[in-house]
Amino acid sequence: MHDIVILGGGSGGYATALRASQLALSVVLIEQDKLGGTCLHRGCIPTKALLHAAEVADTAREGESFGVHSTFNGIDMTKVNSYKDGVINRLYKGLQGLVASRAITYVEGSGRLVAPNTVEVNGERYEGRNIVLATGSYARSLPGLDIAGLVMTSDQALQLDYVPTSVIILGGGVIGVEFASVWRSFGVDVTVIEGLPTLVPAEDASVSKAMERAFRKRGINFKTGVRFQSADQDDSGVNVTLETGETLRADLLLVAVGRGPRTQGLGYEEQGIAMDRGFVLTNERLATNVPSVFAVGDIVPGLQLAHRGFQQGIFVAEEIAGLAPLTIDETGIPRVTYSEPEIASIGYTEAQAKEKFGEVESYEYNLGGNGKSQILGTAGFIKLVRQKNGPVVGVHMIGSRVGELVGEAQLVYNWEASPEDVTPLIHAHPTQNEAFGEAFLALAGKPLHAHA
Ligand SMILES: Cc1cc2nc3c(=O)[nH]c(=O)nc-3n(C[C@H](O)[C@H](O)[C@H](O)COP(=O)(O)OP(=O)(O)OC[C@H]3O[C@@H](n4cnc5c(N)ncnc54)[C@H](O)[C@@H]3O)c2cc1C
Repeated sequence: MHDIVILGGGSGGYATALRASQLALSVVLIEQDKLGGTCLHRGCIPTKALLHAAEVADTAREGESFGVHSTFNGIDMTKVNSYKDGVINRLYKGLQGLVASRAITYVEGSGRLVAPNTVEVNGERYEGRNIVLATGSYARSLPGLDIAGLVMTSDQALQLDYVPTSVIILGGGVIGVEFASVWRSFGVDVTVIEGLPTLVPAEDASVSKAMERAFRKRGINFKTGVRFQSADQDDSGVNVTLETGETLRADLLLVAVGRGPRTQGLGYEEQGIAMDRGFVLTNERLATNVPSVFAVGDIVPGLQLAHRGFQQGIFVAEEIAGLAPLTIDETGIPRVTYSEPEIASIGYTEAQAKEKFGEVESYEYNLGGNGKSQILGTAGFIKLVRQKNGPVVGVHMIGSRVGELVGEAQLVYNWEASPEDVTPLIHAHPTQNEAFGEAFLALAGKPLHAHA
């Protein structure tokens, strides 16, 4: 009997294993594919490598405007992929080494929950005083839309060995706009189709609007508030019909309509675990309704982000060890979209804050007043939302590299700081981080480099 048996070795599962081993618990970690899961092999890391290659392409293209002779001569996807795979492989080796260096029994194979305290893999049974379900997610499609050939999800798009001439992207959420951004920088004619009224619809309305402006400027086509009807493909491309009757054609169609929980056929229902549309339901301590069975990561309803999975894994290991960790505030999880421009946010949008707190104040600091942003040639803003005379409850940023600013934003949100708490703190000049400090100065009524 082990202390913990973990099913799934992605962000949530391996974080649970690493923390549990630090706490001297005996751990079994079961993975059917590659340790590291979606994020390392098919998600966060490969997409960010492509986005970095895209940034290099833009830099080459725009060199002349900085007085640097350079031209963009095209993309060699074989080399881009070997750069991307090199990053993944280094991290993969590091992670394998980390797990191997701990007292973790690593089991390769596909596991199934066969009793509330037992997972079976390759005919062997692993019993745990506690079970942690961490089987992650898969790319969804729409009814009648088969993923095959030129109709693909992010899984196949990350393996493409050529740059298409044109693409249609179904879905203007995080994954959709990140691919749109990469392909546009690679010179592709991109059209994004989003059923909701705006791109990145989960973001604050002002950020969505700014994103649309930026995409328009970059020549990325998009159609919002319009739903997909059907698609058919031939040898050379895909025809997409929208509900309005309009048809579009491109070399390929990327389906980026969200991710479903990977929980089917794994024995969860049979063991009486409460589920909702395939997601595993937990309480705020990540316990399912079945005693000693926990769940972490994308199978738990909420934000599907790697760092949420890491934190949930740490939480569950500490909970099992009896450390009574603090529960995780879902609203306090930072969210970054790594497109050009980047989006970073935390807490409530202005609309959500109004609904929750009644009276709120907000302020948008324009990056036009920020020296480093001017040096980089980026536009955008940092928007703060606070409860009237109270703490800041939302931070919303758009502009190149603003993802790197989300660290301070999450401290502000999670420490319930008011502008008066932040304004005495000094932000280095000239950094983009300084814009963050300026936004707080303005909200506290003492703007420095701000016109309003
Ligand atoms: C294109 C893309 C880009 C993304 N970018 C980001 C980003 O920039 N930042 C971010 O925070 N998040 C990002 N994500 C989301 C992130 O990848 C997920 O939130 C994260 O991987 C979830 O971790 P997890 O442990 O729940 O699941 P997963 O990483 O999916 O891991 C689950 C693991 O369980 C294994 N498994 C499943 N069933 C079994 C079984 N029966 N037996 C044994 N093993 C099994 C799987 O093989 C898999 O390795 C991105 C996702 C995608 C698709």
